Amino acid sequence: MPDDAVTMDKIVSLCKRRGIIFPASEIYGGIANTYDYGHYGVLLKRNVVDAWWQAMIGDRDDIVALDSAIIQHPRTWEASGHLAGFTDPLVDCRTCGQRFRADHLDAEHDVRCPRKPSVLPGQGPDCNLTEAREFNLMFETTIGPVQEAGSTVYLRPETAQGIFLDFKTVLGFARRKPPFGIAQVGKSFRNEITPGNFIFRTLEFEQMEMEYFVPPDDAHRWYLHWLEARMDWYERLGIRGDHLRLRAHEQDELSHYSSATSDVEYLYPIGWQELEGIANRGNFDLTQHAQYSGEKLEYFDQQSGERYVPHVIEPAAGVGRATLALLCDAYDEDQIGGEARTVLKLHPRMAPVKVAVLPLVRKDGQPELAHEVRNLLRRRMQTEYDEGGSIGRRYRRQDEIGTPWCVTIDHQSLEDRTVTVRDRDTLTQDRVAIDELPDVLAGKLEAAWISPKVAA
Ligand code: ATP
Repeated sequence: MPDDAVTMDKIVSLCKRRGIIFPASEIYGGIANTYDYGHYGVLLKRNVVDAWWQAMIGDRDDIVALDSAIIQHPRTWEASGHLAGFTDPLVDCRTCGQRFRADHLDAEHDVRCPRKPSVLPGQGPDCNLTEAREFNLMFETTIGPVQEAGSTVYLRPETAQGIFLDFKTVLGFARRKPPFGIAQVGKSFRNEITPGNFIFRTLEFEQMEMEYFVPPDDAHRWYLHWLEARMDWYERLGIRGDHLRLRAHEQDELSHYSSATSDVEYLYPIGWQELEGIANRGNFDLTQHAQYSGEKLEYFDQQSGERYVPHVIEPAAGVGRATLALLCDAYDEDQIGGEARTVLKLHPRMAPVKVAVLPLVRKDGQPELAHEVRNLLRRRMQTEYDEGGSIGRRYRRQDEIGTPWCVTIDHQSLEDRTVTVRDRDTLTQDRVAIDELPDVLAGKLEAAWISPKVAA
């Protein structure tokens, strides 16, 4: 179990208090496993997604972007195997009426019966579980006003299949040859009926998926490459190395099409859990869609005269789970001048707001100069202006959302055009000339960073 101050309850309460992430449809009493992202949550999530795109298409030349439809032809899910096999085994308790995953009844998953005293499902004297039944996780809907045979469609349970459907089209215009990848970010939907642990498991969630098409003989080598690249990506977001691990699936855990899969796991307050899955999917998907659609989905190498169905390596990550890992990894509590402080020690590049500009007092020309400074910075980085409340309270507000720097305008600023820059983690305050401020802060943002919780 984690050794720091963070618990899931504290994360949930901070997120709600600061409008980062909160339950959806709250005025109607909420809806299970569904959350909304407020201003700072949107900014944080956008930083995660931007960092992913940077790693996929900014830092490399062998991957192209795609944004495929959420509702695809229903045959897609026959071919992919989701219609027949994308199921969870569920049991119902006849006593409490709660539904549980049959494979999550053990202490490791720690899903508790809602009755008091709360026990693991099936362990209490009154528990009365049904046999396990398979339950398909895909949301169904219909096209057109009348629900008739043939009009049933599904909300995609993963973004990956849209990539396989477009493989031939993309190959035609992308001027790439294997090894090359197609990346996409978008919403997926799963009818998850078991308790979700905040945004860890939700009904709708954003995925960041990339299908990397390779010559069959190179598949294992590229699988190893992506294991390393993806672990490295999480560390570059500032997540502590000792809270990340790669876990290879056992033979009996592997999907029928996969010859190897590993999960990147994070040590959440609920224990080690999957952040991302990296799978060697072989040629299963392209072969299936070729068979069901009648299209040839293969690569013809004009130089060698070789024709083959590429194999696929898939790193599939969740935006929500990465966001939750960042929040958990950054959460800290300390004392300043005898007062308790809650702080998110986020990597500055991940922080929703990079710099807050604060006039010490709301008079003497300080707000005007503060606005001038804010306007100087806003094109370079996400900036916030705040003049409400004591300076201590304003620092505390920024600490809670993880703002790495607070720029304070005081009486000296009006005399010599310098400001103080307060550091969230070290609490040092340095005087910097306003003219130099944008470059000084941009330099700090680019600098190497390591979580202060590592040394703690
Ligand atoms: P789990 O075993 O936790 O249900 P999974 O193995 O079914 O996850 P994948 O199908 O591999 O998940 O999906 C890839 C990624 O999408 C996961 O690693 C996770 O980050 C994210 N993800 C999957 N399901 C959900 C969900 N219900 N809510 C939030 N994120 C999800």
